Amino acid sequence: MRVGYGYDFHRLVEGRKLILGGVTIPFKKGLLGHSDADVLAHALADAVLGAAGLGDIGRHFPDTDPTYAGADSLQLLDECVVCARNKGFRVVNADATIVAQQPKLAAYIPKMVDKLARALDVAPEAVNVKAKTEEGLGATGRGAAMAAHAVVLLESIRD
Ligand code: MG
Repeated sequence: MRVGYGYDFHRLVEGRKLILGGVTIPFKKGLLGHSDADVLAHALADAVLGAAGLGDIGRHFPDTDPTYAGADSLQLLDECVVCARNKGFRVVNADATIVAQQPKLAAYIPKMVDKLARALDVAPEAVNVKAKTEEGLGATGRGAAMAAHAVVLLESIRD
């Protein structure tokens, strides 16, 4: 068994779609980034890579590479899971927290869980997503950004 941790942070700006866990959420702003800027998928991808000892998503999908402009981050997460599998690991479970002042995310979480479970190649019961505010404080609290934290447990495929 190996545990991995991931963290990500993106600025919120007008004129971008808000995509979290592969789900497009109606909101006046979206996250700014080279890919679709899905902060939750990125934190999970870093947790998968971290647990497998494979570095981080910046190393696998550089934001200077035009291939990844506007990239679907669920696809990137899927590729990280494949990299972990090639190293002999599969995902056991994942737990993540989105830090966002607005909008209310509870209604979208079941759909995020379904999409993330597919990318992580586990049952939806093995994926947990939570959302928290930072009580109006800091960059996330004043609605200038969103962050996400994630932990992923991997187990060896070979025994
Ligand atoms: Mg990111």
